[in-house]
Amino acid sequence: MDTDLALSWVRSFAAAVAEHEERLTQLDSAIGDADHGANLRRGFSAVLAVLDERPPTSAPELLTVTGDTLVPGVGGAAGPLYGSAFRALGRALARPETGLATALAEALDAVRTLGAAAVGDKTMIDAFAPAVEAFARRSDAGDDLAAAASAAAEAAERGALATTPLQARRGRAAYLGPRSVGHQDPGAASTALLFRALADAATGTEVAR
Ligand code: ADP
Ligand code: MG
Repeated sequence: MDTDLALSWVRSFAAAVAEHEERLTQLDSAIGDADHGANLRRGFSAVLAVLDERPPTSAPELLTVTGDTLVPGVGGAAGPLYGSAFRALGRALARPETGLATALAEALDAVRTLGAAAVGDKTMIDAFAPAVEAFARRSDAGDDLAAAASAAAEAAERGALATTPLQARRGRAAYLGPRSVGHQDPGAASTALLFRALADAATGTEVAR
């Protein structure tokens, strides 16, 4: 991943978060505390300001700075979770010969380590894990970045929708017990936007936004 692609990805995700802020907050109002959209919006405004002020010169640096800014910028549960994902991406891509499939797998591990959630717990992991798996499968099969990223985005979107009938076992929504059933998880919904943003950046779609 080069600096331009990393910048397009982060910008495209920031634009998607702004566009979907209300929907994410509405999802969080059903099973949380109605702040997920606002949290991410605030965090990504901070990220864009930092990237503007001190433009990073490499993808690992850009992703690490994004993670460092997201932790306090987003706050709540999602700040540290997204922050650790971006930091892990930066750390992985700083190693020579490390591809995006490996970096994404390490980002997923970072979120899992911090949040202790597994697939089926109705969290962002339900979108993140199938996306990483789809990305790896398509890269291993020889697909280019755009094709692998678009398969990942589709898998994340399916995973996010599939959280609706689940009962939450992690995060704030878990306190609701069976009352969390019937609502899509907000963090899974924002993770679907993260992978759609990667696909858009890889195909150059985000330029047109
Ligand atoms: P908060 O819950 O502190 O208000 P947000 O509303 O910003 O934070 O984010 C909520 C989202 O964070 C949830 O929808 C869920 O996807 C994700 N989340 C919460 N706890 C965990 C966890 N332990 N592991 C993975 N994801 C989690
Ligand atoms: Mg919340």
